Amino acid sequence: MKLANLDGRAVLITDAGAVDVATATSGEFGPALQSVFDRWDDFVAGAPSIGGAAVPYDPEQLGPPSPAPRQVFGIGLNYRAHAEESGQPLPEMPATFTKFPSCLNGPYGAIELPADTVDWEVELVVVIGREAVDVDRADAWRYVAGVTVGQDISERTTQMAAGRQFSLGKSFRTFAPTGPWLVTPDELPDRDDLALGCSLDGETMQESRTSDLIFPVDDLVARLSAIVTLWPGDLIFTGTPSGVGAARRPPRFLLDGQVLETWIEGIGRLRNPIRKKAS
Ligand code: ZN
Repeated sequence: MKLANLDGRAVLITDAGAVDVATATSGEFGPALQSVFDRWDDFVAGAPSIGGAAVPYDPEQLGPPSPAPRQVFGIGLNYRAHAEESGQPLPEMPATFTKFPSCLNGPYGAIELPADTVDWEVELVVVIGREAVDVDRADAWRYVAGVTVGQDISERTTQMAAGRQFSLGKSFRTFAPTGPWLVTPDELPDRDDLALGCSLDGETMQESRTSDLIFPVDDLVARLSAIVTLWPGDLIFTGTPSGVGAARRPPRFLLDGQVLETWIEGIGRLRNPIRKKAS
């Protein structure tokens, strides 16, 4: 199942177009995405019987699949090659920060540059579908509604200047494009081994597989839920592979007018234009 946010309303995406969830269920679910996540188990149970006509839609109207999460977690240094390019030792527990939810952006929204050291980070993003407290790793995927494509856009100067606290440098407005939809894990070729990457004006910048994650999805859900409660709709940006701009010699950063494309096998592709922030 593919669940998307079309102009603020939950829709199922099919080959024929979009099915409005609230209309097709006579108001039982939706229209807000968060209300669907809040009753995720019921929704999944009832989803196969959701009928209704699929209609063509404008992709530019797609927003973030989970637009109002209570918590957005980011995981640093979660691919070996990226930890090495960052000159950091492998973490013994997930290096966790937050992206404040006001930085969420849609799959085709413009990314605004507040400075000239803004970097890209392709990431698999987990959407939580069930309240998670002290979850066992073996059960952890049952707490995942689905996954989506994300970019953990990072303003490196702010990230490093703020007392080694990453969150503000990763939370400028527009810095978290996600989408184009949530895909439930059953639809994926292998939920723990997905090709992912990103390109800038067609030049590939990052390319890896999620099987290289140091702390994979089930381990992250278990370790995070041992400390904090995960709520339906919460997002986990699971970390980025090697190939970020700051680690290149010379360093490269996003430039006004470029187009950043980001993809994950079995999910889809983001396409975000880069714009200098109006001063
Ligand atoms: Zn990241």
